[in-house]
Amino acid sequence: MLPVVVVHGGADHIPKERSKNSMSGVCSATRAGYAVLKGGGSSMDAVVEAVTQLENNPSFNAGCGSVLTVKGDVEMDAIVMDGKTLGSGAVSAVRNIANPVQLARLVMDKTSHACLTAEGASQFARSMGVPEVPQESLITEYIRMHWKKNLAPGANPVECQMGKMGTVGAVAVDSEGNVACATSTGGILNKMEGRVGDTPCIGCGGYADNQTGAVSTTGHGEAIMKVTLARLILFHMEQGQSVEAASDLGLAYMKSRVGGLGGVVTVDPQGNWAARFSSLQMAWAAAQKDTLHYGVYCGEHFTQSIEDPN
Ligand code: ASP
Repeated sequence: MLPVVVVHGGADHIPKERSKNSMSGVCSATRAGYAVLKGGGSSMDAVVEAVTQLENNPSFNAGCGSVLTVKGDVEMDAIVMDGKTLGSGAVSAVRNIANPVQLARLVMDKTSHACLTAEGASQFARSMGVPEVPQESLITEYIRMHWKKNLAPGANPVECQMGKMGTVGAVAVDSEGNVACATSTGGILNKMEGRVGDTPCIGCGGYADNQTGAVSTTGHGEAIMKVTLARLILFHMEQGQSVEAASDLGLAYMKSRVGGLGGVVTVDPQGNWAARFSSLQMAWAAAQKDTLHYGVYCGEHFTQSIEDPN
């Protein structure tokens, strides 16, 4: 069954004209992650590579393409976790860097901490030689338009926050059976300055443990935090549920208990995987045994050879 990588591009309502780009983005990020695994790379290398690609893709709400705070700024959150050691690294409310997921990995690898925030995270980035980028290079016209719309009198940014997101994440199992997860986001539309969502919170935006599996989540962060969604799904797996059933149970509980919608990608150390969501759509893709699996609407599951470029 091994190795495998599974990627999501956010639990969303994806406008029709954008769904093609979301689909091709998650497919090419999955191919990149799978190439790392096939080349003997670790599951951590694979999830960071896949998420880096999606951060660089302006179709997604992470890195370039991040949504804006109410003041019009980009503040990003990211997490990585290594199932072998339970080591994790995260950044929250970080500005002016292209790839928060790589900074999260540096927090894990180079500090004794699990999360750095805001200006402290920026200082750490500088000390590690991570290039600073102008905020403008992270902002797309599409996102600026949504931001402006939500500032208009009568707009309902809370309702809008339930959709049009596009957080990205990945889980993987490598050929040694090590699992890992990575998640990265610009957060939710017109959020307050300093708002930190679920993504960088361990057990919420992601969790990885070789004894059970790995999960990366997406959806309304305030709801995800209330039910610690990633850890909840792994709890159900510990109780004997399959990756699919555990993912559905976690999402159903979040919906019934706190009215939250979302999506997840999940693996177990044997290489069983699932991509499940309670939102209208979630662009997802997986690669295993040289086959690419993908879909965006509920019930959709296409397959093709990993070699096929389309
Ligand atoms: N979970 C993210 C947040 O609340 C948003 C998303 O997944 O789209 O920051």
